[in-house]
Amino acid sequence: MTKDDEKVIPVRVALRCRPLIPKEVNEGCQCCLTFVPGEAQVIVGKDRAFTYDYVFDSTTEQEEVFNTAVSSLLSGLFKGYNATVLAYGQTGSGKTYSMGGTYTSAQEHDLSVGVIPRVINRIFLEKDNKTTVTVSYLEIYNEEILDLLSGSKEKPSISIREDPKEGIKIVGLTEKVVCSATEMVGCLEQGNSARTVGSTAMNSASSRSHAIFTTTLEQRRSADRSDSVVSKLHLVDLAGSERQKKTKAEGDRLREGISINRGLLSLGNVISALGDESKRGTFVPYRDSKLTRLLQDSLGGNSHTLMIACVSPADSNMEETINTLRYADRARKIKNKPIINIDPRTAEMQRLKQQVQELQVMLLNARGGVSQVLCGSEPLRNMSEILEKNSCLQDENSKLSRELSEAVGQTAQMFERIITTEQANENLQSKLVELKQHAALKIDLQRVVESLEDQELKENVEMIQNLQQVILQLQDENAGITASIEAMTSEHCNFLDGEGELRPRVGVPGTPNLMTADKGTLEAFTTQHALQQAQKSKELLELNKILALKEAFVKEMCQGNSQLEPMQIKYQENMKGLQSAVGSLQKEKEELILDLHSAKKDITQAKLSEQRKQRLQELESQITELKKQLQEQAKLLKLKESSLRNVSKLNQEIQAMKVQRAQLMKQMKEDSEKFRLWKHKKEREVLQLKEK
Ligand code: ADP
Ligand code: MG
Repeated sequence: MTKDDEKVIPVRVALRCRPLIPKEVNEGCQCCLTFVPGEAQVIVGKDRAFTYDYVFDSTTEQEEVFNTAVSSLLSGLFKGYNATVLAYGQTGSGKTYSMGGTYTSAQEHDLSVGVIPRVINRIFLEKDNKTTVTVSYLEIYNEEILDLLSGSKEKPSISIREDPKEGIKIVGLTEKVVCSATEMVGCLEQGNSARTVGSTAMNSASSRSHAIFTTTLEQRRSADRSDSVVSKLHLVDLAGSERQKKTKAEGDRLREGISINRGLLSLGNVISALGDESKRGTFVPYRDSKLTRLLQDSLGGNSHTLMIACVSPADSNMEETINTLRYADRARKIKNKPIINIDPRTAEMQRLKQQVQELQVMLLNARGGVSQVLCGSEPLRNMSEILEKNSCLQDENSKLSRELSEAVGQTAQMFERIITTEQANENLQSKLVELKQHAALKIDLQRVVESLEDQELKENVEMIQNLQQVILQLQDENAGITASIEAMTSEHCNFLDGEGELRPRVGVPGTPNLMTADKGTLEAFTTQHALQQAQKSKELLELNKILALKEAFVKEMCQGNSQLEPMQIKYQENMKGLQSAVGSLQKEKEELILDLHSAKKDITQAKLSEQRKQRLQELESQITELKKQLQEQAKLLKLKESSLRNVSKLNQEIQAMKVQRAQLMKQMKEDSEKFRLWKHKKEREVLQLKEK
């Protein structure tokens, strides 16, 4: 094995943005993504940039995606490496389009086909006659594996087993040997028809199911059948990533676990665990779902993996798009260790050889009397040192947990204060606007003062004049306050962002069960509580970030709209003028036609009628020109209407998010209070016990 083979490589991520679809164009959606030419970077809104291994904007053709991102995986496949391509994204973002999962043989000459048909062609172009190709096709729906190639209506029992040498195996799954591209496409078609027939609820369910099309290559290296290289390629069209009813999930984590697609949820957890430097080498929750179990080797295992993160450019999808961008960003941090899959027996032999060598070295050391393994008192001392260190670390851990939980409590309080300040400020602002528009402000009091004779009246008016100035000053101050609130929030975000990903322990929903906990678990619950609170705090931050983005967007759109306002009024006037112009021209035209008609009979009037004909033509072209203008203006007006609709939709979303934020905060406060009481009680119990 060369150095290169042992190299650890991250999961590669390609971001793909589809064009706006006609429905989005009709609804007046705008594009909220910007691409930097020559850089693998995408910018959301104004300045949030994300970088990936590849970024494909909406003009990128299927062929380019394949050549740039997928082709090298296939070269690896033939060298014996496993490979996986995952398409991730919300429903309608282009996963199936990119993967080409619904390809049929009728599309043979179609240039817009996706990854799967291209892979099939390439495999049969490249393979030699010592290579056997096998396919399987399965679907995971509701945590159930459906064999799409079984051909029978009965569901055979399928189980997943982990072989220490060969990795993950699916027992009971149909695997078909195929000898030509046509035959392989046949399998794909058969599987797809099973997918749609499989369940009547599947149409709405297809966006909730994962489809995995797997190709296995077995390349014999000599006449001996056992001397072969086996490599697998998984092509995965994941379920839609949109979060369902996120607002409700807050109160009831258990229900959330059931209603949200478990596969994507645990895929996210696996990605987090693998992507976090600080958690390297710790437990990865592959077993939480069928999907992560099947893809265990593709994520952080023995595979070259590409994630195609699909997004829609429409502003109406901005929230989901940001979620996808962040998810994909985490995936990039995963490191895989692909190895060439030689025959398990050969691999075992190599492993044994290495073990023998290591044992020999140990034996030599032992004979020389310097072995650390066999010495008597040495390990014991080491042991007690380790134990001591361990208990120190445990102490420090519980101290840090306590501090963390306090800090999180404070954070929540501060957030609350920021929000109440924000609300008060908004109220003030609207009052100020009212005041500013008040007619009293527009009276030129200076002139009134000068023209007044009565001294007392004069003084009173001067007082009012002062008041006018105070109002103006207030307005300035208010702007200052808004700016400082914004600064505070962003500072806060930066502070918490530095913490890395925090995950509460899996499988313990809600607050710790106060009744069943005994004194021994006090520390553990303290830690868990702190982590849970910190997680909520992070959710809060997420919410705040998205809120800020949305608010900025609305502001921008409103500005655009207010610029449109005078234009709109002008247009409306223009339109009236144009309409009456069209009317009068039409009348003139009709009169002319009548004249022409009567003139025909009179030969002497031929010349005159020629002129009239010309005039008629002129009139006609003028009329069409005016009508065109009318149409254009109507179109512009419609555009403005739809953008107004968008603004109000966004505003509604913002309101809903604010409510969600308040709920989350309330819950954090309640949790923290409950926890405080519980802890207090427990500590008293412990004291009593000690006294006894
Ligand atoms: P998903 O599988 O993610 O739910 P689809 O692949 O079905 O989404 O795509 C939704 C729609 O967008 C389809 O009509 C598809 O043809 C179109 N579409 C997706 N990606 C592209 C693209 N890159 N270019 C052109 N049309 C696309
Ligand atoms: Mg799809």
